[in-house]
Amino acid sequence: MSMESQIENTTSDTQPILEVQNLQTAFFTDKETIRAVDGVSFDIEPGETVGIVGESGSGKSVTARSIMGLVDSPGRILEGSSARFTHLETVQEYASSFPGKTVDLNRLEEEYDPSAFNQPGVSVTPGDLGYERAADVPLADVVAAGYGSELGLDVSDDDCVFVTGGDPGSPESITDGFVELSRLSGEPQRQMRGGRIAMVFQDPLTSLNPVYTVGNQIKEALRLHQGLRGEEATREAAQLLEDVGIPDARRRVNEYPHQFSGGMRQRAVIAMALACEPELLICDEPTTALDVTIQAQILDLLAELQEERDLAMMFITHDMGVIAEISHRVNVMYAGEVIESANVETLFAEPKHPYTRGLLQSIPGRQEGDRLQTIEGNVPTPNEPATYCRFAPRCPKAFNECTAMHPESVPVTEGEDDHTAACLLYPEDRSSDEALAIHQQRTAAQATETDPTGESE
Ligand code: SF4
Repeated sequence: MSMESQIENTTSDTQPILEVQNLQTAFFTDKETIRAVDGVSFDIEPGETVGIVGESGSGKSVTARSIMGLVDSPGRILEGSSARFTHLETVQEYASSFPGKTVDLNRLEEEYDPSAFNQPGVSVTPGDLGYERAADVPLADVVAAGYGSELGLDVSDDDCVFVTGGDPGSPESITDGFVELSRLSGEPQRQMRGGRIAMVFQDPLTSLNPVYTVGNQIKEALRLHQGLRGEEATREAAQLLEDVGIPDARRRVNEYPHQFSGGMRQRAVIAMALACEPELLICDEPTTALDVTIQAQILDLLAELQEERDLAMMFITHDMGVIAEISHRVNVMYAGEVIESANVETLFAEPKHPYTRGLLQSIPGRQEGDRLQTIEGNVPTPNEPATYCRFAPRCPKAFNECTAMHPESVPVTEGEDDHTAACLLYPEDRSSDEALAIHQQRTAAQATETDPTGESE
């Protein structure tokens, strides 16, 4: 895809299909609490690829697994997190299949009184939801983050479908709403995972069962999510293998994973993911285990499939070269936080955060001077609240305040929200005192006292 079309896509007015807000996932051990994902927010539009990039340990994969509902004990998504899936057909389908878990937000609006934030015994604050004033907090944000019952609203922890337009009792009349992914469990979660949202992992062998033919595994996905069986399913499985570029697909549908090369296996896994006709495809380092030629082929294949199917894609990698190739928008993660976000062209032309600059300097051919640059040190384990800049020990630009103040995500130039960085040096058009004051105000307005032990829940 050309850079022009990428930029065109990024600047479209399309509504996001996925809205992630303040996602927090922590792992609880006897010794410590690891905040693997610590307040991550981003959107993905239909037909858009959002890249998530960072070193190992930055929280990329846990972000993906949180959205997919694949976080196992001792990890869990914390209250206050939200990942809204706004695909209209899915909202209609879920309202029809799970009426007991569906809430009409228009009805609830009559009950909602923002002054409830000030009631005795209510621990949630407008700041926990990213607002300065209670009157500004929309009802949808309250229920999506799981604070509805605390504010006295008639909504339960099991509710996961929220209708904002139309009548939930007549699903085809619904025009607006969302499924809250962070609150899915049981059957609603099973249907979403591998149905509307599919995931491709780094190692195809972890997704393929060695004792079943590739065709049978694709047919199983077709049976579960599309109800296809017998000859019809076999034909569709072969067609999917053909769609992902596997030659002689009608014969190969009867082969086992060990008879496929590494690249072919990854293509087969992509075919399995597509069998569910997903709206959102999450790719977690899908090309890392492949050699560069096969990697390029898989990236081209994903870009083609995306264009054909208007797929939204979240693409995780540690490789800046791959990010440049496939993404429309990029979120750079470090120690559980998104530290810079911009469209791909801006990020590569004008990186702002010292960490992003370090990552780009470490790409062969982009370094200043003859020697390849590296970022000294390692990503820290985020095992305490971020009351300072987690990048400070490795940052060449660090100054005194960096170890005493948490940098919030701010526009690098005030008023231009499309490029943000979590660094005390920004907004760059402000004096350093003014910039620090902006970060301080934002921190004060947010949930600095979030309690991951759940005692406040
Ligand atoms: S806040 Fe300070 S330590 Fe952190 S990236 Fe910016 S300059 Fe470096």
